[in-house]
Amino acid sequence: MTHEPLTVDADRFAADLAQLCEIGWEGERGLHRTAFSQPHLQAREWFLRRASAAGLETRVDGAGNHSALLPSGEPEARTLLLGSHLDSVPAGGRLDGALGVLGALEVVRTVKDAGLRLPVTLEAIDFTDEEGTVLGTMGSRALAGQLTPEMLASPRYGRDRLLAALAGAGLSEESLFAARRDPADIAGFLELHIEQGPVLEQAGVQLGIVTGIRGNASFDIEFVGAARHAGTTPMAARRDAGLGAASLILGLRELVMRDFPGCVANVGDLRLEPGAFNVVPERAVLKLECRSLDEDELRELAEAVLALAGREAERWGLELRTEAVGLWKPAPTHPRAREAIAHAARRLRLTATEMPSGAGHDAQVMARITTSGMVFVPSVDGISHHPHEWTSLPDCINGTNVLLGAAVELATTS
Ligand SMILES: [Zn+2]
Repeated sequence: MTHEPLTVDADRFAADLAQLCEIGWEGERGLHRTAFSQPHLQAREWFLRRASAAGLETRVDGAGNHSALLPSGEPEARTLLLGSHLDSVPAGGRLDGALGVLGALEVVRTVKDAGLRLPVTLEAIDFTDEEGTVLGTMGSRALAGQLTPEMLASPRYGRDRLLAALAGAGLSEESLFAARRDPADIAGFLELHIEQGPVLEQAGVQLGIVTGIRGNASFDIEFVGAARHAGTTPMAARRDAGLGAASLILGLRELVMRDFPGCVANVGDLRLEPGAFNVVPERAVLKLECRSLDEDELRELAEAVLALAGREAERWGLELRTEAVGLWKPAPTHPRAREAIAHAARRLRLTATEMPSGAGHDAQVMARITTSGMVFVPSVDGISHHPHEWTSLPDCINGTNVLLGAAVELATTS
């Protein structure tokens, strides 16, 4: 006898997805559900209401993380967390994070409705401020005990914004630290998410099994030359900071494609000063980041990039200043989580491929403290962080079914 795998209630999921997608949606202007905004708080309340309606317990912790729980019947049971985030970037898309939260809720509801008795408590969680309009992966870091006083002292949009956001939500720095959970109580973490890139769609594959989240090293880079009259100074006599910047941007692409396949790098901001038609640029200020799935490779890549900047500075007669402004270590997912996802996909006869995640996620934080895994579903045209971000409903449902299968396997084998 063959068992058809347990599947979620596709109609209930679709109806809820349609409702959730409306909260903070402004049509062509995109989704405006930044952390702690009114629409964000509304979406979180909606999530708790839907959880209560399904007969689940709800809870909000000191970091503002919102949860729906199905307690295990077993005493001393650990908790298997499933989830993502309901906050968005400004003018973002409707599925980034939201799919993972709703998918998690649907999985927990389905397990409850099926009367499945698991040896772990299942918890669907909506993490606070993943996108970083206040701090970045604030909720998952707090839960994982990965918040430091230094992070709170200098959040990237300033401390005033952080304190105002916390106070507005009835939270405090103390409550953030109190949200930490003992990793011994956690059985694992699974996150369903849209791919946010074109790989699955182009390959015609239904699911991505995330091998890890790429680490990220970022730098402020400054070339300094000499400001001169752009009409009177001969070309050969210039120390043009713009040339350093241009050469670095082109060389960076070549370097990564030739020596670091599988890595990516980007110059996302460039400013020339003083900034006029008739003045040779004295300063070129760049924001550069590079990403790799491997810690050693990330270090080698960062060193190679800085060496390249040094060579270009010398070539054009410029001074070079560099400052490391951020380092996120790569976070490999757990082999057992990857296997559970692969098994679930196979049982559902869905095609799946292993792939890295270029973007950061709550799973990146959770992978440091527990058995973590991530499922990707295809993004239409690879678009994300944009109003046109979308994934077909069947793909969303496939992902949720795989999350369900993987969760049940992890719950019963961990
Ligand atoms: Zn996300």
